[in-house]
Amino acid sequence: MSDLFRPGGPRIIAVANQKGGVGKTTTTINLASALVETGLRVLVVDLDPQGNASTGLGIDASDREFTTYDLLIGETALQDVIRATEIEDLGIVPATVDLSSADIELIANERRSFLLHDALRQTEMDEYDWDYILIDCPPSLNLLTVNAMIASHSVLIPLQSEFFALEGVSQLMITIREVRQTANADLRIEGIVLTMYDKRNNLSQQVEQDARDNLGDLVFETKIPRNVRVSEAPSYALPVIQYDPNSQGAIAYRALANELVNKHQRLAA
Ligand code: ADP
Ligand code: MG
Repeated sequence: MSDLFRPGGPRIIAVANQKGGVGKTTTTINLASALVETGLRVLVVDLDPQGNASTGLGIDASDREFTTYDLLIGETALQDVIRATEIEDLGIVPATVDLSSADIELIANERRSFLLHDALRQTEMDEYDWDYILIDCPPSLNLLTVNAMIASHSVLIPLQSEFFALEGVSQLMITIREVRQTANADLRIEGIVLTMYDKRNNLSQQVEQDARDNLGDLVFETKIPRNVRVSEAPSYALPVIQYDPNSQGAIAYRALANELVNKHQRLAA
């Protein structure tokens, strides 16, 4: 089994928050495309039965023969589930609604929490040479999200700039701590990114202040503004950088990618 955690191997990041509609999928797709724009190779793993990341990257629902589900149950090799997208150097493992039964179907499997971890390590990754693997998690702290956390170096948490946003984060932190104690001692928090930020709205500013007071350096400097181009892009099956390269959303996701890469380069130095 190859060692994905070796220096120089891909950095694997779970994009997670058990609340739905906070910008997980939007951040996964657009951060992936922004990283690719800097010259990196990125693989997105769609781990949500809703398959929104797959649709958003142009893989039609009727055209998903092999999926994350096949990968998890070990029926299909990683290289056979990876699909190319319209964007060079951006690959995706698509998901279908099949995944929603995984929790129940896998109950008797002793390695049920390690399936994604094992699947991503089943082949020599050098062949594909991904720099980043971003995992788009479902809106729940279920077996799928735990699989993502055990498979990853870190968790990136999108936080919608809304009332009660921080309450969910403490539950998420508890789950991360449990995963550290039981299965993945080195799991880090990549950072918390404020999404759908509206600088004219006092509530957005309040959420930002609370997040920075409570979570300090874990909060990315970059904030993702609420921007209509971001919400339109998936219906054209494109990330916002391809859909409207000069939009506020595209600019913000580029800044987030730069912040992330700079941090990793600093840590590696
Ligand atoms: P999640 O994956 O956490 O459920 P999504 O990424 O699907 O959340 O986002 C939820 C909704 O909010 C989607 O309709 C998406 O288009 C919209 N959205 C996300 N981020 C932004 C943004 N920065 N500006 C405008 N709309 C956004
Ligand atoms: Mg989603």
